[in-house]
Amino acid sequence: MANIRRDPPPRDGAPRALAAVPVRPCDDTGPAAAGLTSAVQYARGVGPARARLLEDRLGIATVSDLLYRLPRRVEDRSRLRRIYDVAHGALETVQGTVVRIRQFRPRRRRLVIIKAAVTDGSGILHAVWYNQPYIARQLTPGTRVVLHGRVQRQAGEIQMAAPEFEAIEEGEESLHVGRIVPVYPGTEGLSQRVMRSIVARALDDHAGGLREWLPAELRDRHRLPELRRAIRQAHFPETLEEYRAARNRLVYEELLLLQLLLLRQKAARAASPRGLRYGDARELVARFHGALPYTLTGAQYRVITEILRDMDRPHPMNRLLQGDVGSGKTVVAATALLRCAGGGAQGALMAPTEILAGQHYLTLRNLLAPMGLTVTLLVGGLSRAARDEALGAAREGRADVVVGTHALIEGGVEFHRLGLVVVDEQHRFGVSQRAALRYKGEHPDVLVMTATPIPRTLALSLYGDLDVSILDELPPGRSPIQTYVRAPAQRPRIYQWVRGEVAAGRQAYIVCPLIEESDKLQAEAATALATRLAESVFRDVRVGVLHGRMRVDERDRAMRALREGETQVLVATTVIEVGIDVPNATVMVIEDADRFGLSQLHQLRGRVGRGAQPSRCILIGEPRTEEGQARLAAMEATTDGFRIAQKDLELRGVGELLGHRRQHGFGELRVADLLRDREWLERARRDAADLLEGDPDLERAEHRPIAAALHARFAGARPENARVG
Ligand code: ADP
Ligand code: MG
Repeated sequence: MANIRRDPPPRDGAPRALAAVPVRPCDDTGPAAAGLTSAVQYARGVGPARARLLEDRLGIATVSDLLYRLPRRVEDRSRLRRIYDVAHGALETVQGTVVRIRQFRPRRRRLVIIKAAVTDGSGILHAVWYNQPYIARQLTPGTRVVLHGRVQRQAGEIQMAAPEFEAIEEGEESLHVGRIVPVYPGTEGLSQRVMRSIVARALDDHAGGLREWLPAELRDRHRLPELRRAIRQAHFPETLEEYRAARNRLVYEELLLLQLLLLRQKAARAASPRGLRYGDARELVARFHGALPYTLTGAQYRVITEILRDMDRPHPMNRLLQGDVGSGKTVVAATALLRCAGGGAQGALMAPTEILAGQHYLTLRNLLAPMGLTVTLLVGGLSRAARDEALGAAREGRADVVVGTHALIEGGVEFHRLGLVVVDEQHRFGVSQRAALRYKGEHPDVLVMTATPIPRTLALSLYGDLDVSILDELPPGRSPIQTYVRAPAQRPRIYQWVRGEVAAGRQAYIVCPLIEESDKLQAEAATALATRLAESVFRDVRVGVLHGRMRVDERDRAMRALREGETQVLVATTVIEVGIDVPNATVMVIEDADRFGLSQLHQLRGRVGRGAQPSRCILIGEPRTEEGQARLAAMEATTDGFRIAQKDLELRGVGELLGHRRQHGFGELRVADLLRDREWLERARRDAADLLEGDPDLERAEHRPIAAALHARFAGARPENARVG
């Protein structure tokens, strides 16, 4: 039976087992099955060093995690093209030998270009990469290599710009060439070749231990292969049809388990009274609203009323607050926290990054301290003394509101009387993480907030029986953000314009190009760009930098400098995409905008347009494909997050069927994509409801394997009728 848990179960408050409900692991005690749950270090071909990379970078801790970490896509190398035959504009895969590799820097641009000539005897293909000098060390002349990328025939030369590549060794061909091969999420230090052979050996050694748990009836109904076959073919299929069917099986099983979990949580919640009742705080809330420097929007009033009404009910609140970036969710959360603390309980707010938690902490302290509340920050990077103080304040009830990151759900964090849990930027957290925070209290109220606009039906499928509140109105007095797409050649003019804005007292963000492969490279790129700009075009401008690899105090300093106007231009990675709120920043420049997803661009753009001054967003990019052009055009055309999400959906629909899977970030779903796999979600929802209808606790003998799979997958997320032990 497969153990595909990924989030570590919380060490405190929520025991591993789904304690009070009869869901327990089944009888999979054979040697092969035991192998599946063993640490990935003991898989063939994996030692301590690779195990560490697998765990830290890819979240793969066990052999079964490894088998369930599916390829990003598969590549059909059974039909390699001869270089002579490749077509202009087409995505092609070729194989050849490197005959020459050169590295050079063009004069005016700070750029390193790597150009490799590769031949297969039929012709010569020139592969070109930018700013990746390590490639020159890997592809020395004589190396056999497979290249995959878009072909351009230009001035008699056959080129591939930034192709994916893989060096092939003699005798290795059977796994890597001449067949459909898996392409895994890239990671430094773990080449495709290594990943492929580790996975192939793990399949040989351990796939036999996988136990089918999906009833034959459901498999037949949806024409899905049996589990062992599906896992094998999702990595090494013989045909693309096999690959699709295998993925469907794994998508469906994941969604079915998620739906079972949510439905069972819902039933448990319906049966449980709230843990705490609040004293009256009406007057305090009224005073708070009266003291705000602005009037609430109609939408904010409506949503606040819905929330406060929930908090007066006998069952705990479970509400999703959706509101586009800048719609003013924070003051809504502050009101709920005030209602809770004013009524004698404690509130907690969890944010996905330390930067965002720090920002919320400052905002909430400014809003709530004048109301007599104590707000405390709890993040991973605190000093020992500060951490002890924060823990004590939470445990003894001195803190009315505790703001933090996932540090909040760790063992050792206890609350005196936790009444309300607020989770910001919800889609970043998984079901188990949300549940873990909930278990720090006894059936507390839960308010989750997100700026990702998802259709209501999808929200219900994802969050269970959440009530949904929507902030569909932006605060007044904001001028809409104007967005412009510009070619890289325009950069000098763009920078001059930024200088002008800065001279006029505004502040600007420059988001540097996305490097998905590595945080470290990303951080280096941001620092390099900041230095370069500070030494050239922004010589007399105060330039700051912000990226995910900075220490907490460095980050705090960078954020403070921005807020206080000290920093005029902030060069940043996507760490700024959530929540940062500096009204005087009115300029956003996004480099290589065509490499970002639409929703991500929308989030990034939402960092400006927060004050009364008109804001502008410049997207630097020159997309080659029609889809890419349409995506940037959509950004120019609208600032409405719902419309953008819709557009994203349409465009992705026409993308290549087996193309890249965009990072989605919905917690711990690892195979399914909630937008792409909407139909499977619907099926899973119906089937889950049917299964539970006559057997709500999955106790019948024929349902035991399902219960066990559910346990293995979501061990950290107990249904709520289990008491805190
Ligand atoms: P988001 O929904 O993206 O989290 P925030 O809560 O950060 O939005 O609010 C964005 C900005 O709008 C903040 O500066 C906040 O003070 C301001 N704001 C919130 N509500 C109003 C309002 N009713 N009128 C004017 N400004 C408001
Ligand atoms: Mg926010």
